[in-house]
Amino acid sequence: MSVIPRITRIVLASAVLCALALGQNAGIQEVHGINVANMDRSVKPGDDFYQYANGDWIKRTEIPPDRAGVDVWTKLGDLSNKRMADLIAEIAKSNPAAGSQERKVADLYNSYLDEATIEAKGLAPLRPHLDAINKIHDKKELARALGESVRADVDALNNTNFHTPNLFGLWVAPGFEDYEHYTAYLMQGGLQLPDREYYLSNSEHMQEVRKQYQAHVAAMLKLAGFSDSDARALRIVELEHAIAEKHRSLAENEDIHKANNMWKQSDFASKAPGLDWHEFFQGAKLDHIESFIVWQPDAFTGESALVASIPLEQWKDWLAFHLIEAYAGVLPKAITEERFDFFGKKLSGTEQQRPRWQRAIFVVDAQLGDAVGQIYTQRYFPPEAKARAQAMVAQIVAAFRKRIEALDWMNPATKAEAEAKLSTLYVGIGYPETWHDYSNYEVKADDAFGNIWCGDLSDYQRQVARLGKPVDRKEWSMTPQTVNAVNLPLQNALNFPAAILQPPFYDPQAPDAANYGAIGTVIGHEISHTFDTEGSTFDSKGRLRNWWTPEDLKHFEAATARLAAQYDTYKPFPDLSINGKQTLAENIADVAGISAAFDGYRASLTGKTAPTQDGFTGEQQFFIAFGQNWGEKTREAALRQQVMTDEHAPGEYRSATVRNIDAWYAAFDVKPGEQLYLAPGERVRIW
Ligand SMILES: [Zn+2]
Repeated sequence: MSVIPRITRIVLASAVLCALALGQNAGIQEVHGINVANMDRSVKPGDDFYQYANGDWIKRTEIPPDRAGVDVWTKLGDLSNKRMADLIAEIAKSNPAAGSQERKVADLYNSYLDEATIEAKGLAPLRPHLDAINKIHDKKELARALGESVRADVDALNNTNFHTPNLFGLWVAPGFEDYEHYTAYLMQGGLQLPDREYYLSNSEHMQEVRKQYQAHVAAMLKLAGFSDSDARALRIVELEHAIAEKHRSLAENEDIHKANNMWKQSDFASKAPGLDWHEFFQGAKLDHIESFIVWQPDAFTGESALVASIPLEQWKDWLAFHLIEAYAGVLPKAITEERFDFFGKKLSGTEQQRPRWQRAIFVVDAQLGDAVGQIYTQRYFPPEAKARAQAMVAQIVAAFRKRIEALDWMNPATKAEAEAKLSTLYVGIGYPETWHDYSNYEVKADDAFGNIWCGDLSDYQRQVARLGKPVDRKEWSMTPQTVNAVNLPLQNALNFPAAILQPPFYDPQAPDAANYGAIGTVIGHEISHTFDTEGSTFDSKGRLRNWWTPEDLKHFEAATARLAAQYDTYKPFPDLSINGKQTLAENIADVAGISAAFDGYRASLTGKTAPTQDGFTGEQQFFIAFGQNWGEKTREAALRQQVMTDEHAPGEYRSATVRNIDAWYAAFDVKPGEQLYLAPGERVRIW
C-alpha cells in the first residue's frame, strides 16, 4: 500500500493515456523547513488544522488547465518528470547503439511524439486487431480472444490497483500460503469507468456521467469507422452495467480474508460455468499454471455466466471498443481528443490535455521505467542521500519497536511476532538492487502503436514467466523516479524511491522537526502498514497467517472501528461522505506514522531543545510539516472520483488526523470547544 492516492498519480484509467495530476510551480522551494508563507495564521489550528497549515497556499494556487488537481507532491513529480525529459533528450541525442536499452528509450519517446506519422497511419495499426475481433464466430473463439487480451495490469496489495478494463486481470506476486514462490492472482475486470458505483449509483451526478459516457462510447466507435454506433454504444454500456452488478465493491476487495480462494485450473468450469476456460487459459498463455488465487470468486462466476448469456455480437463490440480505448493515445488525434474529452474533462474536470512530450514521458516511465531509473539514480541520488535516509528510517523503526514493547493491551506472543516482522523488514532506499531486463521488448522508431502493444505484452510475458519461480523479497514495485513510497506486505518490505527523498519531504538543510514531520511521517506510515488490518494478516515471512491472538485482534478492531466512524462523519460534498471502512488502513497508517515519527523526532533531539523557526517550536514545526504534506486543490469531479474509488482520504481529512495525537494538543494549546477538539477518551490510539 502506498502513501499517496492513485488518483493523484493516474487520473485516466489507461496506461497509454495516463495523465498525472501534477501541479504547477515546478521549481523546488527555496525555503528550508516548514513553509510559513503557505499557512493561514488567521485560522486557529484547533479549528481547522488543514487551513492553518495550507490556507494561503490554497488561496493563491490555481489548478492549471491540464491538471485534475495540484498538491505539494506534484512539485516533486514535475521535477522528476523534467529530469526524465532531460535524460531522455540527452539519450536521444547521443544516437545510442541499435538494440541497447538507451536506443529503446529514445525510439519509444520519439515514436510517441511523432504525431505526423501517427496521423498518416490513421486507423491502419488498429485494423488487424479489429479484423481479428470481427472474425470471431462463436463463444469458443470469443473465450480465446478474451484470454489473449489479459494483461498484468492489476495489483492488489502493493500499488493497489483493482481496475482493469479487460475481462479479468493478472497479478503476479508471492502466494498467500506458498510465500516462497510467485503465484497467479486473478482479478475481476471489464469496466471502463473507474468502479462499479459509476454504473450502479442512482445519484443524479452518476446518472449524468453515464449519459455522457454512452455518448462517448458512440463517438469512439464512429471515429473508428463503425456503423450504428449509437445502438452499439447502448449495448456496450448495458453489458458493462451487467458486469458491474457482478463486481465486488472496493471495500470488499480490500478484505484479504475474502480473497484467499485457491482454484485449480480444472475447478473453473464447475465454479464459474459459461466461459470456455480451456480456451481462455490458452489465449492468456496460462494453460500450464495449475492453480490460481481468485480474488473475487463471485465476480468470476457472474462474469463467466455473462459470457454465455450475452449475445456474441454484443461481446465483440465490447472487445473492439475496449481495444480502441486502450490505444487511443497512439491513434489519430480525433480519437485521442475524444477520449480526453470524456475521461479528462468530464470525468476528472481537467480542461486541457498535458503537452504531448509529458505524456510521452509517462509512456516511457510505464514501459521502460527501470531503464530510465538506472540513469536517474546515478545522476540524482548520491550515496550520502541514501545513507542519511537510512539513518532516519532506522530511527523510526526503533521508535516503532519501542511503541510495540510498551503496548499494554498486546499479548507477549503477538509482540514477539511483531518484533520478528520488524527485524526481518527489508527497507529499500532510493533504488532496487536488481533492474528489470527489457531484452524481450522490441521498440521501433516509427511505430507508436506497436511499441505500446509490444510493451504491454512483453511486460505480461515477463510476469507470466515468473510464475512458480522463487520470490526475491528485495524486488521493487516502484521506479526510483516515482514520487511515492510503498509497503509490500507479501515481501515484508518497504520501498522509498529516490524521487521522494528530496525537498520538501526530505531536505538535509531543514531542521529535523520539519524532516520528521514531512518524510518521517511518510516512513512511519509505510512501516505501520506492516501491522495494520492487512499487515496483521501476514507474518514475518510474508505468509498469510494471522499472528495475532483473538483478544489482541478484538482490541485492534474495536480501536480501528472508532477511526472508521470518525472518518465516516467527514462530508466533502452534501451527497458524498468519506467511506471510513474503505479508507481505514490508510487512516490507521497516518495515525501510527505520526506517532512513530514524533517519537523518532523526540529521540533525535537527545534531550536538547529544538531550534525555533519563525517563532514555531520544534513540536509545532513537526505537526505543521505533516499538515503541509497534504495541501491540495482538486477539481470537483476528480475529488468525487477519489472519494469513491481510492483507499486514501482527501488531504484535508488526512491532515485533520492530528486530533488523535496528544502531543498536537500540547503543541498548539488546543482547547475544548475548538472544532477539531476530541476529549482524551475519544482520541483513537492504536499504537
Ligand atoms: Zn498507505
